[in-house]
Amino acid sequence: MKIVLLGPPGAGKGTQAEGLVKKLFIPHISTGDMFRAAISSGTALGMEAKRYIDQGKLVPDEITEGIIMDRIAQPDCRGGFLLDGFPRTLPQAMALEEMLKDQGGLDAVLDISVEPEHLIVRLTGRRMCKKCGAIYHLHYNAPQQENVCDLCGGELFQRDDDTEETVKNRLSVYSEQTAPLIEFYQKKGLLHVVEGNHPINTVLVNLGKALGQNWN
Ligand code: ADP
Ligand code: AMP
Repeated sequence: MKIVLLGPPGAGKGTQAEGLVKKLFIPHISTGDMFRAAISSGTALGMEAKRYIDQGKLVPDEITEGIIMDRIAQPDCRGGFLLDGFPRTLPQAMALEEMLKDQGGLDAVLDISVEPEHLIVRLTGRRMCKKCGAIYHLHYNAPQQENVCDLCGGELFQRDDDTEETVKNRLSVYSEQTAPLIEFYQKKGLLHVVEGNHPINTVLVNLGKALGQNWN
């Protein structure tokens, strides 16, 4: 299955991707995670991407399309993949169509819908594990021990771009550049909208339903 997870920043794409890939046995491909890994390793790509990410802007299409093209050409993507955070612009969506044109295109686009008023609280309270990347929230999905990952014992941190000011920029970038993808994929008959303002496991079950799976 070749799936795109769509939704505003904070909708729960990364959280749901953790659950979806365990059920579907396909790789989770997050452009945000790839950029953060490049920043941590201090590569040229990371330094370039950081200039945009720190301001809440999108990394230019050519750069982002290039890293996705290389990633989906890897052997582990032959049986499908889950894209999280890509595409984020219409040109990226069209580039993805071109990349997949010999493989029958995408199978589904899952749009996690969350009202804007919840997103700032979700993003400013988000914490991530330095070691394994697991996603937590100070109140909605707190770790058992403060600042310690339940899964691997790693230390939790707050992303530099999860400050209130940067979050506001990211939400307006989403409305202007990414939200038009909802209509784009609806017209192609690929879109499934799933309400994201439910408990994490309920959202996962409903995403499964949209894919024709019964995970109750
Ligand atoms: P995205 O990848 O779409 O930016 P995340 O998966 O990182 O979003 O989730 C953003 C924040 O919201 C995290 O702190 C996460 O723990 C929290 N979160 C995710 N899903 C839910 C949910 N269904 N209810 C409450 N909080 C959630
Ligand atoms: P995310 O982890 O998905 O919230 O992404 C973090 C940041 O990485 C975004 O705010 C962008 O600056 C950058 N980014 C991630 N995916 C893309 C993309 N598809 N296009 C452009 N920039 C991206």
